[in-house]
Amino acid sequence: MTRLIDGKAISAQIKEELKEQVEAMKADGQSVCLAVIQVGDDPASSIYVRNKKKACAYIGIQSLSYELKETTTQEELLELVEKLNQDENVHGILVQLPLPSHIDEDAIVKAIIPEKDVDGFHPESIGKMVIGEDGFESCTPAGVIQLLKRSGIEITGKECVVVGRSNNVGKPMGLLLLRENGTVTIAHSKTKNLKEVTKRADILIVAMGKPKYITSEYIKDGAVVIDVGMHRDSENKLCGDVDFEDVKDKVSAITPVPGGVGPMTIAMLMCNCVKAASK
Ligand code: NAP
Repeated sequence: MTRLIDGKAISAQIKEELKEQVEAMKADGQSVCLAVIQVGDDPASSIYVRNKKKACAYIGIQSLSYELKETTTQEELLELVEKLNQDENVHGILVQLPLPSHIDEDAIVKAIIPEKDVDGFHPESIGKMVIGEDGFESCTPAGVIQLLKRSGIEITGKECVVVGRSNNVGKPMGLLLLRENGTVTIAHSKTKNLKEVTKRADILIVAMGKPKYITSEYIKDGAVVIDVGMHRDSENKLCGDVDFEDVKDKVSAITPVPGGVGPMTIAMLMCNCVKAASK
């Protein structure tokens, strides 16, 4: 029987735990505040920002909203980040990506001080993840680990294959699986015989940005499949990088899209905000 890994339910559970934690912190006189910056009005970014602010409100985290014009210069954005870096009442800073093409994303990510880097994108956060020091983990891969753990799926000793090596998803995903004692392979667009590699996986994590690319031919019988991909298909319905209908009878457990990894990313962002304020 295939098990559906319910990201909506697991993220709701995490948010409940955080809500209690924030209430206790407030009773001790400690607030939690996230600054959310959006440049321009890209519709997808606006939805993500809205959902993040909604999650903050539910948990009891104060969110400060900065909606900047598309024409905002890099210097103006850096100035705002610097102001928020200095503001003791702000615990986390989130700059919604992507930024307009005239702004160097890398420069902005590096300008956020590591203590407030709740997205976990700063080189110091990544470095801490590599050497196993306590820091902020990238939200999507951290969410995948929580999905596996809270579903009772053992990672230790398992063949884990990650398809995708982006800085924000694939690479940190590989690192976190390694930390959990998985035997990790990271595949990418230059990997030869992808099917042979993915068929070795007990746990297959797909973050390649290619709608419904992974079919049953890529999967070992009984594998656990986590689909990070997020797209709209020809009928404007959300779908992932995995062809869910084609693989669902071959796997032992799988995340749906929507309702799998997506809600976990926001839950882990909330975890990082609470952690930032607790420090
Ligand atoms: P990305 O930066 O475009 O990276 C895609 C990766 O997939 C690259 O490393 C690329 O390899 C690899 N790849 C592409 N085609 C391949 C192929 N045919 N065979 C093997 N590898 C291939 O994407 P991303 O930011 O990591 O995001 C991946 C997906 O996850 C997207 O659909 C995105 O929308 C989704 N996402 C979802 C969430 C969420 O919260 N649910 C969060 C973040 C991202 P090369 O490095 O060799 O080019």
